[in-house]
Amino acid sequence: MAEIQVNEDEVQVGAETASVCPACQALLSDGTIQGKSVLYCTKCRGLLLPIANFLPLVEFLRTLRRPTGSDIQPRDNSDADRHFTCPQCGKSMTGHPYGGPGNVNIDTCESCSVIWLDRNELQRIVMAPDHYPVYSRYDSGGGLRRTN
Ligand SMILES: [Zn+2]
Ligand SMILES: [Zn+2]
Repeated sequence: MAEIQVNEDEVQVGAETASVCPACQALLSDGTIQGKSVLYCTKCRGLLLPIANFLPLVEFLRTLRRPTGSDIQPRDNSDADRHFTCPQCGKSMTGHPYGGPGNVNIDTCESCSVIWLDRNELQRIVMAPDHYPVYSRYDSGGGLRRTN
């Protein structure tokens, strides 16, 4: 029985494509996560996937997450005004805050209905708690932590 090889991002990486990573300009590779097609950057480990596949993927990855990841990180706006070019159509992608958990800024192409996620962004969305608990202090590590 052939075992499917997936990497630590749950991606089964296939052949390199001609599409260019919007984040690091490496060539994206074909990949699949749970049978869903994605484009995957083996260099920066970002993902481009159809918006329709995004929520099912997050839901699936959340079922795999380890129960330790309950820290909420403050929104990192360092990437809020970057300008990505869609690897599929060459138009500018739209950066905006993701409305779900994780406090991340995401980039989408409305024309292609695709979403770009940096590796840490997918991790943050997946690892974020389902509900927002109350936080009352900053810890020295620079992140907000649960106080109970
Ligand atoms: Zn990249
Ligand atoms: Zn596009």
